[in-house]
Amino acid sequence: MKLSVVVPCYNEEAVIDRFDATTRGMLDDLPIQYEICYVDDGSTDGTLARLRLLAERHPGGTRYVSFSRNFGKEAGMLAGLREATGDAVIIMDADLQHPPELIARMLDLYQLGHDQVIARRGREGDKPLRSALSRAYYRAVNKWVDVELADGVGDFRLLSRPVVDALLSLPEYNRFSKGLFSWIGFDTVTFDYRNAAREAGETKWRFGSLLNYGLDGLFSFNNRPLRIAIWLGVALAGLAALYAVWITVTAMSYGVTLPGYVTLVAIVVGMGGVQMVMLGLIGEYIGRIYYETKRRPHFLIKESAGVAGKPEDPRRRRLSQGKVV
Ligand code: UDP
Ligand code: MG
Repeated sequence: MKLSVVVPCYNEEAVIDRFDATTRGMLDDLPIQYEICYVDDGSTDGTLARLRLLAERHPGGTRYVSFSRNFGKEAGMLAGLREATGDAVIIMDADLQHPPELIARMLDLYQLGHDQVIARRGREGDKPLRSALSRAYYRAVNKWVDVELADGVGDFRLLSRPVVDALLSLPEYNRFSKGLFSWIGFDTVTFDYRNAAREAGETKWRFGSLLNYGLDGLFSFNNRPLRIAIWLGVALAGLAALYAVWITVTAMSYGVTLPGYVTLVAIVVGMGGVQMVMLGLIGEYIGRIYYETKRRPHFLIKESAGVAGKPEDPRRRRLSQGKVV
């Protein structure tokens, strides 16, 4: 069998050589053919130069594509999956937080017939605030979203060819992979590993981008928030009706009294706030529809190198000229 390892890299110059050496060392010990598909996600440091060297040094087992700018890890994974030719694909981070030692274990589970083999990390070494927030987020999201999202389950996983083809058949522009992996189904198995600290370089996730990623997870997978908006509206209208009845009754029993100004202002402002939130929520979905209807490609490739010795694919030549297919 042939295994493809897909590695999205964004400014990973400090660690990419070490990653390549370690992973290759692991793969060489296994009785399989393999290729490593690097995706340079528009790095601004020397990552691309390193990838060129790696591809030269290991012809026949290394390929890379380089984006015209930073398109994000989701786009990077998608490009890697499109490039991969193996019977199974493992997606790994370049920073050695996904221990290459686990590849053998994943392959064993794959050979037992599982289509998705997931390595679930613990939260050791994370900042306490970040792990507490993550845990709360997953608890909330699993109540709301139709697909199951598990804490600590990330992109480190092995996918069989049918799973890769299933993922590639999903055309959406907003790709929330965690949800997509879960949505496609297939025979899935999970095992745990201890989280390692990043070897070098620094994380690309700022707090704000994590928050946005969280919102993506909520909005990409269903329209339940819209349903909640409807129910909230119904509840508020119900309360308003009850309040009107109560006021009418008191006015009839005790006569009309002037006070009520504060109540009125509070209600007007409160309702205004609720309406703004609901409008924003609807806007969020419309924004997503807007991006989907543009049908833009997920990424643009400015340079790529295939496995040496393979006859050059005309499509690839067109890609390297900066055009998109
Ligand atoms: N990455 C990427 N594009 C981006 C951000 C990150 O390809 O815009 C890659 C990065 O090079 C790494 C992986 O995604 O291989 C995970 O990123 P990082 O280690 O920064 O995330 P963390 O482990 O902190 O969640
Ligand atoms: Mg990392």
